[in-house]
Amino acid sequence: MVLTGDRTMALYCPACERLQYHEFSFFDISSSPRPFHCSCGFTQGHIVKKKKRYEVRLLSPAGVQVRLLYSFREFWAAPLLTFYTADEDEALGYLGNPQDVDEAVAAWNNDFVEPGDFDEPEIMSAILGYLQKLASSNKIACECNHPSVGIDVYPDKVELVCSSCSSGIVIGATSAKDVQKLAQLTEIVMQPASYTWLGEAKTLNKEEF
Ligand SMILES: [Zn+2]
Ligand SMILES: [Zn+2]
Repeated sequence: MVLTGDRTMALYCPACERLQYHEFSFFDISSSPRPFHCSCGFTQGHIVKKKKRYEVRLLSPAGVQVRLLYSFREFWAAPLLTFYTADEDEALGYLGNPQDVDEAVAAWNNDFVEPGDFDEPEIMSAILGYLQKLASSNKIACECNHPSVGIDVYPDKVELVCSSCSSGIVIGATSAKDVQKLAQLTEIVMQPASYTWLGEAKTLNKEEF
C-alpha cells in the first residue's frame, strides 16, 4: 500500500487554546475549501486542493493567516508534517499517521491550557461563532496605529485584546443576554489603550438600520 488516504491532524485552536484532533480522508478534500471546526465552535482552518498541490490555511495564535503548500505525496504519504508559522517559528499543528501525530503531540513540550469546560458551552459557541463572523468581514478593529486584535477565551468570558496598544473588550459568555447583546453589534471598534466590558463603551457601534 502506498498510502491509506486517511490522515490525522491535530490543530492548535487560537480561540480556546487547546489542540483539536481531526480525521479526514482523500475524498473529503477537493478544490472547494474544506473548513475544520474546533469543538469550541471556532473555525481553525481550511484545506483546499490546488491543481496538484494541497493548501492548508490556518490562523496563528496572533490571528495571522498562514498558508502552507504541500505536494500530493507529502500531504498524503508523509508520516508526519508539522505546520509552522513563517516568522514565529511556532508549531500550529501536525498532520500525518495517527500514531506519529500522537507522538508529536506528546513530545511537544507545550503550554496548552488543559481542557477546561466552559460554564455554558452553547452560549460560548454562539459567542465565538458571532465573533468569527464579524472578524471574517473585518468588523473587529482597533483604532490604534498598528492594530493586532487577538482573542482569549475563558470559561465564562471572551476577551478581545489588541497586542499593539493593550486595549481590551470583555464579552460575557454565560447567558442568552450576552449573546443578544453581542448580536446587536455589526462592528466592534476598540479605542486605543482602553479596557471595557461589552456594552459599556461608546466605542461600539449599534446596528444602523
Ligand atoms: Zn477551540
Ligand atoms: Zn490597538
